[in-house]
Amino acid sequence: MRAEIIAVGSELLLGQITNTNAKFISAQLAEIGIDVHYQTVVGDNPERLEEAIQIAENRADLILFSGGLGPTKDDLTKETIARHIGVGLESNSKALVSIQAYFERTGKQMTENNKKQALVLSGSTVLENRFGMAPGMAIHAYEKTYVLVPGPPHEMEPMFRDEAIPYLQLITGNQEIIVSTVVKFYGIGEAELEHNVQDLLESQTNPTIAPLASKDAVTLRITAKAESAEAANDLIEPVLKKLHEQVGEYIYGTDDDTLSSKAAQLLIQSGLTISAAESLTAGLFTSLLAEEPGISVSLKGGMTVYDVDAKTKQLGIDDQLIEKYGTVSSECAEALAKTIREKFKTDIGIGLTGAAGPDMHDGQPAGTVWIGISFADKTETYQLQLSGSRNANRLRAANFALYYLIRELEAR
Ligand code: ATP
Ligand code: MG
Repeated sequence: MRAEIIAVGSELLLGQITNTNAKFISAQLAEIGIDVHYQTVVGDNPERLEEAIQIAENRADLILFSGGLGPTKDDLTKETIARHIGVGLESNSKALVSIQAYFERTGKQMTENNKKQALVLSGSTVLENRFGMAPGMAIHAYEKTYVLVPGPPHEMEPMFRDEAIPYLQLITGNQEIIVSTVVKFYGIGEAELEHNVQDLLESQTNPTIAPLASKDAVTLRITAKAESAEAANDLIEPVLKKLHEQVGEYIYGTDDDTLSSKAAQLLIQSGLTISAAESLTAGLFTSLLAEEPGISVSLKGGMTVYDVDAKTKQLGIDDQLIEKYGTVSSECAEALAKTIREKFKTDIGIGLTGAAGPDMHDGQPAGTVWIGISFADKTETYQLQLSGSRNANRLRAANFALYYLIRELEAR
């Protein structure tokens, strides 16, 4: 089956948005063995859309449309296709009920043109929109299959994955189930990770392992195809095990885990309490942990101890120690972590100190960071040498503290 994706939207042509829908749809189709031969972009113009449809029909069996299913005048995808293949539009009761429910839920006023969104191509299979109003649809006519999905990615992606893919698997007779897991890494660069797991990346066919772009982490996506979800998971399991053997120290979680959610989850599970004394991060670490619901059972508080007096007079670390080793030192990080733990009577104390930049601080180059993690039985310190801007360094310092905390908690 040869496929073509037609993304509809003048914003795409004006360069105002990126065609991420085509990327997503292509990747999804590749996973079920459907080859995409062309990706087309056309503006909100019925004549040019019709022309694009005609061209696509000459070179594809499956044509997928993204965008233009909304209630406004410029949304004309389904009207154009209806006219082109000669079918009518009819109101779909399930879609109408779900649109009405959407308005009730959001307390917004429903207008007459919202009813237009419940219109679907006669004889089509309706694809449910769980995150918006416009339903998607799939229809087979004159030996071609047409699939229509809405433009907003947060509506389109779940619809495509959960509704369009099963429909396409049904018509192609490909009944395999696809299961994927995203493995998340910290403290290792993308290139270094790929280098360390090169053998796995190259040798695997089912499951496949692929780096996945993500703004806050280095990730690998493991995707398996099998007859059942259970069988797919059985294929994923040994790959996960190998990843843990080869690069396990950098893995902090899977799927929706973030550094703070994972750290919070481990803290809450273990029943351990925590406090932090922060110099260069000035509360960022505490603030990241506080983003997580339920963390109040563990997070007791912290102190921002920015200058030397705050560290000595307010928190109470020894001024002799600072005189001897300076504030940007393993000794200072250790003292911050230990002292805050004792002062706040928590099981764990975190200390963060360093030279955020752009200038040197206390004789240490910009980007030097020391992190202390103190438990009653031992205190560990970690050094970072960061090279980003001031605030990138501060955020990375806080994230690294979460990452080392996760490792310490997992080792217990
Ligand atoms: P709506 O009901 O929101 O109007 P729609 O199905 O009519 O949905 P469009 O009006 O074409 O979709 O686009 C709505 C928004 O969806 C765009 O402003 C853009 O943010 C996003 N969008 C549309 N097409 C794409 C695309 N190809 N890739 C990424 N985002 C897109
Ligand atoms: Mg629209």
